[in-house]
Amino acid sequence: MIKEILNFEVTIVGGGISGVVAAIAAARNGAKTLLINSSPVLGGNSSSEIRVWTRGSSGGGNVFSEEMGILGELKLRNQYLNPNLNPFIWDEVLLEAVLKENNITLLLNTLVVKSEYSKGFIRSIEAYSIKGEVNYFIKSKVFIDASGDGILAASTDMEFVIGKESYDEYFEDFAPKKASSCTQGNSILFFTEEKDHKVEFIAPSFAYSIEEIESLINTDGRIVNEKTNGLDFWWVEYGGNLDLLSKVQDVTFELKRLSYGIFNYIKNSGKYNSDNLELVWIGNVPGKRESRRFKTDTILNYNDIKTKRVFDDVAFYGGWFIDFHPEGGIFSKEDSCTQIPIRIYPIPLSTLYNSKVKNLLLCGRIIGTTHSSFASTRIMDTCALSGQAAGVAAAYLSSFDKTTSDLKIDYPFVQKNIEDVLLINYEPNYSSLDYKCEVSSTISSVPGKESGSLNLDNNDIFLTIPSNALSNCSIVIDSSKDTKVFVNTSYDILPHRFNIDIYNTDYISLKKGRNIISLSKFFLKDNKYTTLNFVNTSGVNFPLLDESLPGILLGYTKKPKYYNPYIITKDFSYLSKNNLLNHYNRPYNNYNAWVSDKIDCTLKLESSTFNYLRLYFDPSLERELVSSRQLRVNNSHLIDDIFHVAPSLVKDFDLIPYKGEKQLKTIEIRNNYQRLVKIKFTEDIDSFIIKFIDTWGEKRIRLFSIEIEKK
Ligand SMILES: Cc1cc2nc3c(=O)[nH]c(=O)nc-3n(C[C@H](O)[C@H](O)[C@H](O)COP(=O)(O)OP(=O)(O)OC[C@H]3O[C@@H](n4cnc5c(N)ncnc54)[C@H](O)[C@@H]3O)c2cc1C
Repeated sequence: MIKEILNFEVTIVGGGISGVVAAIAAARNGAKTLLINSSPVLGGNSSSEIRVWTRGSSGGGNVFSEEMGILGELKLRNQYLNPNLNPFIWDEVLLEAVLKENNITLLLNTLVVKSEYSKGFIRSIEAYSIKGEVNYFIKSKVFIDASGDGILAASTDMEFVIGKESYDEYFEDFAPKKASSCTQGNSILFFTEEKDHKVEFIAPSFAYSIEEIESLINTDGRIVNEKTNGLDFWWVEYGGNLDLLSKVQDVTFELKRLSYGIFNYIKNSGKYNSDNLELVWIGNVPGKRESRRFKTDTILNYNDIKTKRVFDDVAFYGGWFIDFHPEGGIFSKEDSCTQIPIRIYPIPLSTLYNSKVKNLLLCGRIIGTTHSSFASTRIMDTCALSGQAAGVAAAYLSSFDKTTSDLKIDYPFVQKNIEDVLLINYEPNYSSLDYKCEVSSTISSVPGKESGSLNLDNNDIFLTIPSNALSNCSIVIDSSKDTKVFVNTSYDILPHRFNIDIYNTDYISLKKGRNIISLSKFFLKDNKYTTLNFVNTSGVNFPLLDESLPGILLGYTKKPKYYNPYIITKDFSYLSKNNLLNHYNRPYNNYNAWVSDKIDCTLKLESSTFNYLRLYFDPSLERELVSSRQLRVNNSHLIDDIFHVAPSLVKDFDLIPYKGEKQLKTIEIRNNYQRLVKIKFTEDIDSFIIKFIDTWGEKRIRLFSIEIEKK
């Protein structure tokens, strides 16, 4: 065995989505960073080894809440490179992003086996290369545990919990009376494809028989047919009542028995049209849902989420359902999952460390949460955002020779550098210089023409609209008779399409025929996003437009598809250039973007001297961007069919910088598919003009925010 001694500023153990994002964040914040991953590919559960799609707050029904930051950059790159969302290409999107960072050294196929811990510090760790013969001894100023199991944290003084806390501990609605060490189980997924010829399948002898499988399926969402595929089999879950750290082999073999048994059932039970169906991939590494959770300085519990607790050291957010699975998994008689919709909620930095351990941060599913709040924070978009916060914090600690206990006071320095992540209730300690800004065009009429409609028969429909757009506008609704429609109203920082947190119930009266209904009675003085839930009523239709009035959406509450309502208004002030000056770079209480009337327009900015620029465009933040997916997807996932760059993103523009009167060389941005465009000017400037040239399809420019700095 070759011995190698390595020395880094920040070392991350685990290259799942949280570890990858943590490494990029640490590296971009100046730390010499090492990322170690035991598997050959990056992405953990989202990698092609396991193939879980990354989801987050939008998937949980929170509109305009799609997670951005470093994860957003990766998802937008993936959408551009990998429109079919093939899991192999997602692996390479992550690999490419890591290899591009000069400050990151990456060790794949490398397993961390030991750590030396004393007096509050991890002194060193030991790892070996699984495919080679190298033994690494690694020293680092700061470590981040992103291993999903907490291999590093478990070797320190940090206490941890496996399973569920008792009700008495945090008084959470869903906590059991007695604590239990049971967890959510593991799963092995498989992918199938319909071929143009017959394909035989003989199951391996260890697979469960057709009769055994029959007794486990077709109850409560355990849908099996020739069309089910990939993550449709999320409920093939096992091991929650075992010790998943020690029983890993038993659990793997049992999951293989189940997965092969189910595919054999589809092929050979004679119940399905599956002659041409081929098994094209089956996992070998079980995806793990739950493991240790560590006792950090703050432990996020469900009451914090429910009561919208404000955290001064907010560092990221969550918004996926509280998503419980029974510990018995596929063998349980309980529902395979229970999903409670919640609004987006802040998560503090102090869930990522315990100040007893001076040089360790956590990210991913092991952070300081109770079982009930973990049931939401475990979703990968949230895990990735925790990685960004941990990476920024680790770089801060390493560059200023600080320890985790300093974060109690120093958290604003970390918050300031968490780029493009929504920090709820955080007043930006704004570093951008002030500027003056002129635009040559602002939207002045409702775009588009009538095209199709949504029907309120047997469906609830939601309309979401910022309060500052609501006061002077009306919606067109058609009715086949005189009727009343009940409307539940809710107000919050962002809309939720399910009917939750109802503030008021009212009704609107419709006459037979076309109605123009003023929405002013739903106006709330506070700046909030308003969501009107129209309760299902027969004979009522909402006509649609073929173009969008940004920030206003209509849809069925249970479907993740968004449409353009037929709105009548003359007041477009909610989309004015003033939004560029309000410091919000995404929807938050309002829509917050400037929107032009046409693509061919200009923006002129003047300030004092600066050399760095950030532009925040709109990738349609209501769209859920998943890392991978199979082409056929069961409707029960509530997932949209998105396979292309958002039409609302600005694609081509020229930026002409000026220093005083002197025009400098034009910067041509072409084929942009990112939301956040960063430009470092080679010399100081004091103004620029942007000439917009094209978008990915929309007939207008949308821009949330401009930040300029002298670096
Ligand atoms: C079947 C299933 C369905 C799910 N459904 C969804 C879903 O639809 N959407 C969603 O977003 N989330 C879903 N989840 C949850 C989500 O996948 C996890 O919560 C998430 O992956 C946790 O991220 P992580 O980065 O903490 O850990 P992981 O993704 O588990 O990554 C941990 C990484 O650490 C590495 N590692 C571990 N130990 C060591 C070591 N000793 N040395 C070096 N490296 C090590 C591993 O190789 C791995 O790459 C699901 C999970 C499962 C299993």
